[in-house]
Amino acid sequence: MTRVAIVTGGTRGIGEAISVALKDMGIKVAANYAGDDARAKAFSDRTGIPSYKWDVSDFDAVHAGVEKVEHDLGPVDIIVNNAGITRDSTILKQSYEQWKAVIDTNLGGCFNMAKATFPGMRSRGWGRIVNIGSINGQAGQYGQVNYAAAKSGIHGFTKALAQEGAKFGVTVNAIAPGYIDTDMVAAVPEDVLEKIVAKIPVGRLGHASEIARGVAFLVAEDGGFVTGSTLSINGGQHMY
Ligand code: NDP
Repeated sequence: MTRVAIVTGGTRGIGEAISVALKDMGIKVAANYAGDDARAKAFSDRTGIPSYKWDVSDFDAVHAGVEKVEHDLGPVDIIVNNAGITRDSTILKQSYEQWKAVIDTNLGGCFNMAKATFPGMRSRGWGRIVNIGSINGQAGQYGQVNYAAAKSGIHGFTKALAQEGAKFGVTVNAIAPGYIDTDMVAAVPEDVLEKIVAKIPVGRLGHASEIARGVAFLVAEDGGFVTGSTLSINGGQHMY
């Protein structure tokens, strides 16, 4: 049976690697993105994976987007809630808008996507939801009260929804990546990044493909007994 997956923020960075890994598993993939049309087009041309534009923080836009994907590809069996942003600053300088944008996108996006797809998965008796959290949701990070709160929230959201899906063949898991060599990390000042890498036992940044490998494990047909878990993929930087 050919499954259908949506990867939010699936056109670049970690999301791109996830989209490609799922396609390689024989899954029909729709890659969502927010606004970078040129990157999305280049991604679709390169991979043959269709891209769909909507803002995951917009409840109505998510529902319309999911409806379009279902019209084009069929009922959605798998979602990977990967879309995420940072708006870093200490709480002294952090504006309400910076707080709200990160909470609404990183955590609200998971809710909106689950609301649009979980009922169908539940009624068909099979589904896979993977939420991309962060090491900084587990451990906290200076200058990231918004991001750490949203990512920490994802871990609670995952465990709660896993309990609702368990009897219906719907697994819900999270991945907590450490520092991965994407645009998001390229925005970190070089001297700060050097200090971060010095604390990673494996001695380097992770690659997006190393997160995609975890997603492939969690969405597999025979993955039905793994639910409510958080898989940390962080080069040994944070163990608990
Ligand atoms: P990137 O910044 O490289 O890519 C982000 C992707 O998310 C883009 O495709 C972007 O679309 C999309 N996106 C952003 N906002 C929205 C939105 N409102 N609606 C829909 N799509 C949106 O991020 P990474 O690949 O680095 O990160 C992916 C995920 O992994 C994020 O959730 C991040 O928090 C998490 N993570 C990353 C780590 C890292 O070290 N890189 C570490 C731990 C967690 P567009 O191209 O249109 O802008």
